[in-house]
Amino acid sequence: MNAIRRHIRILRPAHLLAAALALSGCRDAKPVRTSWQVMGTFAAVSTSGREAPRLDAFAAECRGIMQDVNDKLTLYSTHSELWAINQNAGIRPVEVSPLTHKVLGLSLHYAALTGGAFDPTVAPLVRLWGFNGATTPALAPTDTALRAALRGVGYGRLRLADRTAFMDNPAAALDLGGIAKGYAVDLCIDRLREAQPRGVMVDLGGNIRCLGAARRGRPWRVGVRNPFDIQDMLGVLTLTNGMAVATSGNYEKFVTISGRRYTHIIDPRTGRPVGGMAGVTVIAPTATETDALSTGLFVLGMDHARDVLRETPGCGALFVPDRQPMEIHVTATFAAHFEPARRYAAAVRRLDIP
Ligand code: AMP
Ligand code: MG
Repeated sequence: MNAIRRHIRILRPAHLLAAALALSGCRDAKPVRTSWQVMGTFAAVSTSGREAPRLDAFAAECRGIMQDVNDKLTLYSTHSELWAINQNAGIRPVEVSPLTHKVLGLSLHYAALTGGAFDPTVAPLVRLWGFNGATTPALAPTDTALRAALRGVGYGRLRLADRTAFMDNPAAALDLGGIAKGYAVDLCIDRLREAQPRGVMVDLGGNIRCLGAARRGRPWRVGVRNPFDIQDMLGVLTLTNGMAVATSGNYEKFVTISGRRYTHIIDPRTGRPVGGMAGVTVIAPTATETDALSTGLFVLGMDHARDVLRETPGCGALFVPDRQPMEIHVTATFAAHFEPARRYAAAVRRLDIP
């Protein structure tokens, strides 16, 4: 489960600014970065170069926060709160920490907002298709097996009370893999903001959020990967203070059954892995929102994204359908922050969505 999910690559500002520095003769230190592994992926913190001495302290804060989120919400430890809720599905409500309660509440919010396309109760389907530690099935699940698993799925099955969480069916189970990393990034940003950094960027498996500027007042910039060739970039996003970005891609995690590839994002309405979408990148004011909505919009597709994006001010999206020749569909808000690579400029289409 240590799949490496680094679908958004941080551009090296050293390359971007090399020419300007040579001209000015000024040596403003370039941003510095440190990374480690947590939550089955890579985490990284970057600061503007002038704050390099604070990098280790910032990273230590983030390590602690991410570890705490992991300890409470992982599916892979019998000590996590998520494990306890799943273990007690259909039996009894479980007392949860404020952190877990908050993430569950946000999950329900995004489930309702996306009409159930994002659904934290997809766990039985995720496992049925061979993800999250389950064995890959020799054959694709039958309609009967899908119907049986779907009986345990539906965000209405999660009952949140003041301090407790309860899954109301013994076959039901939670999987917060589509939102927990984004939430952890927001907690890190909230903590780091108190230190009033000139510039900091937190990345947890491609869930990215920044504060301030990267270097000499210039905003942070990240590359958006080409889902058909992850060494390649579709273009560059400029992130203003506080902005977040995340990508959900069909190339991140997948299983091959009878020679066919199935992605790890499941349509909770059909029980099947989503087909037809290669990648969805979302920008928004928080990393929780970009994480949940990149997953939800991946399921919904660009034709049904309109209603969701209308409800989420400041949120923009880029869609790459899983077909050739490549098309890059962007909303107006996304386009305002995105500079496509010159070779892909002709592939960009504007969606009639704010
Ligand atoms: P992400 O990479 O953020 O798009 O999250 C994908 C992960 O979320 C998967 O590996 C599953 O653990 C989980 N997941 C799959 N399908 C859904 C869905 N429709 N809604 C919420 N979570 C999902
Ligand atoms: Mg997500």
